[in-house]
Amino acid sequence: MPELPEVQTVVNYLAPIVQGKIIHSIDSPNHYDKVFENRSAADFKKAVQGLEITRLWRRGKYIIFDLYEGYLALHLRMTGKLLPNPLHEKYTKHLSLCFDFSDQTKLYFYDYRKFGRIYFSSTLEWLEEKLGIEPLSKGFNLSWLTQSLAQRKRMMKPLLLDQSFIAGLGNIYVDEILWKSNIHPQSMSDKITKKKLLRLYNSVQTTLLDAIAYNGTTFINFSFGNNRTGEFKEKLNVFGKQGQPCLNCGEKIQKIRVGQRGTHICNHCQKLHM
Ligand SMILES: [Zn+2]
Repeated sequence: MPELPEVQTVVNYLAPIVQGKIIHSIDSPNHYDKVFENRSAADFKKAVQGLEITRLWRRGKYIIFDLYEGYLALHLRMTGKLLPNPLHEKYTKHLSLCFDFSDQTKLYFYDYRKFGRIYFSSTLEWLEEKLGIEPLSKGFNLSWLTQSLAQRKRMMKPLLLDQSFIAGLGNIYVDEILWKSNIHPQSMSDKITKKKLLRLYNSVQTTLLDAIAYNGTTFINFSFGNNRTGEFKEKLNVFGKQGQPCLNCGEKIQKIRVGQRGTHICNHCQKLHM
């Protein structure tokens, strides 16, 4: 699933293309009306017709379209691709959504698994209620992190994956961040030492910023623009590296399950704190 760096990559690519365009209509060409999450297709169409996209940005794993009035929020989920050009005809059946702009250009949303969703709302309050802090915002600092982890008393990996705690992290980056911080994913959040908290804070920032700089990670099927892929895969240390030597100590990377998620760790570098 695209995580913060992949969604940011899509936004960085599309913002200059779609900002300032006026929505003439929005349709689900294959009548996959479930893509319109919070209203009927007809209501949706009526609500956005004639509105300008004033800004494209990201909140958590959502792509937000600020409109002249109201907001669209789009979640790519597993396989969603938002593209300014149509894919080859053989992909037509995966087309979930199509924006027609007043300048005759289009924006296509292809979604093989069909889990992607779009929301229209007059405010973003519903989203703010759902989502936790942005890890690249000023509010995410060492004292916030120290206090919040002490309060939660939860297992580290499920806590970092919880979008209502920190918005945007997913399986790949949480494994990378915990390895860089020498924290076992099953450690309890209130038992992390001061030294490791600082490492954790730094690795959240550096990992996400680096991944954005490399246009995200293409592990299975992430792509953007004209079939461009993310290059952060080359920079991964543990994710997908089971059986390979840890770059710190040479021990074999293990794949374990933590809260139903495949999790990559070095047992030697990542000590368990219960
Ligand atoms: Zn190691």
